Amino acid sequence: MTMKAYDKYPVSLTNSLSGKKEVFKPLNPGHVGMYVCGPTVYNNVHLGNVRTFMMFDLISRYFRFLGYKVRYVRNITDVGHLENDADEGEDKISKKARLEELEPMEVVKQYTEDFHDVMRQFNILPPSIEPSATGHIIEQIEIIKKLIRNGFAYEVNGSVYFDVTRYNSTHHYGILSKRIVEELMESGRKLDSQDEKRNKVDFALWKKASPYHIMRWPSPWGDGFPGWHIECTVMSTKYLGETFDIHGGGMDLKFPHHECEIAQAVGATGKSPVNYWVHTNMLTVNGQKMSKSLGNSFLPDELFSGSHALLEKGYGPMTVRFFMLQSHYSSTLDFSNEALIAAEKGYKKLSNALTTLKRLSHPGGVTTINPELENLLLKLVDELHLNMSDDFNSATTLATLFEMSSRINDFKAGNTSLTTINPETFGLFKNGYIGFLEEVLGLTEEIEHNQELLNSVIEVLVDLRKKARQDRNFELSDKIRDDLKGMGIQLMDGKDGEMNFTID
Ligand SMILES: [Zn+2]
Repeated sequence: MTMKAYDKYPVSLTNSLSGKKEVFKPLNPGHVGMYVCGPTVYNNVHLGNVRTFMMFDLISRYFRFLGYKVRYVRNITDVGHLENDADEGEDKISKKARLEELEPMEVVKQYTEDFHDVMRQFNILPPSIEPSATGHIIEQIEIIKKLIRNGFAYEVNGSVYFDVTRYNSTHHYGILSKRIVEELMESGRKLDSQDEKRNKVDFALWKKASPYHIMRWPSPWGDGFPGWHIECTVMSTKYLGETFDIHGGGMDLKFPHHECEIAQAVGATGKSPVNYWVHTNMLTVNGQKMSKSLGNSFLPDELFSGSHALLEKGYGPMTVRFFMLQSHYSSTLDFSNEALIAAEKGYKKLSNALTTLKRLSHPGGVTTINPELENLLLKLVDELHLNMSDDFNSATTLATLFEMSSRINDFKAGNTSLTTINPETFGLFKNGYIGFLEEVLGLTEEIEHNQELLNSVIEVLVDLRKKARQDRNFELSDKIRDDLKGMGIQLMDGKDGEMNFTID
């Protein structure tokens, strides 16, 4: 039996539960179950969110590359996420729908599509399952009933709350975030007189809908809608099991969202739901936290077009992807013009070497083997795996790829001859470079430049066709039009012999 790559290069990852780097041991050998909190689809996804989803894309890509079968679940939050964490304020989707005079599902559709577009632009692969909160109302009601039966939840006036103090008397609320219930009870605001909670640390599982609330479902407690935390407990355990391997999200979700998820799952099943909690760090801008109120929050489109006060020019999605991969997922990453300019150069270097390498092939024969070079090339390929297996360190992986790109340029320039290494070694080196750059890091050739080139080529053909028509050579002009049409490029004749084209 051949050894699997995941046995040869065991993965370690930083578990937020222990705060330590641990060796990853899957529940089912050869399989990885991973859940990541997806977007609340009430506005355009900003760059900080993109970083989180890109990092979990990297993680799932590498597990697959090692030969694991990965089930990656990332949800869409389309109900229940209120404006603040204390179960107060309007539902974010409902509010947007009210302000824009739309149905809530119109809001959801619009921003889900925007989210998918952005993911595609950054080459972030879709998850295996993308469940939505509104698609799992029945399951949420069922688990809330179970929590009430188990004594961890109570109903007041048509709303249901999780009893944190009761839970904490037999279990550990704060196990993930290291918060202490007694301190949470003392800090912050006092309970409002109209607050129905027994204790202010309690959180909503189900909220009663006012007569004007548009998003509502019938339940044993009357018409209402689910709290935010319960959806993730339901959707993660439904598709991955009561206990699963990895749960991820941005660091800001650790408390209260993920802490509440643990309490809900333990309260319902008696089992700890997640073996490894993984959190990605924040994106800062010139050293400051990215936030809408500071005016330093970026939308992907502003970045591509350069239409933002803090940007000197636009950057392609692959440059941004490269930039984000330069830092470890658990570190903060600072966003600035200078950093992006440097990333653009770095990315181009790796991308050029990729193009060169794809054209290089070993002649087959060897003259005299250079054992040092052989060892170096094999060591570099080994290093790629070791770096990524070490807590998905994309930064050191990129450093190794840079070293490999210098070797590639040596081959191209003829400084070293391919006949001094074995064809097998060259094969491993080539597959390693291409595999890690394209499949693991997800860096493809930037389409933008190719698109520009394609447009110029079409312009040339359009001019030729114009000339053919002037010469009354309709056979040739029709051929150009039909051949382009066959490739999905439509030429449209305008007045005065002007021509335009569209590409499918
Ligand atoms: Zn969640």
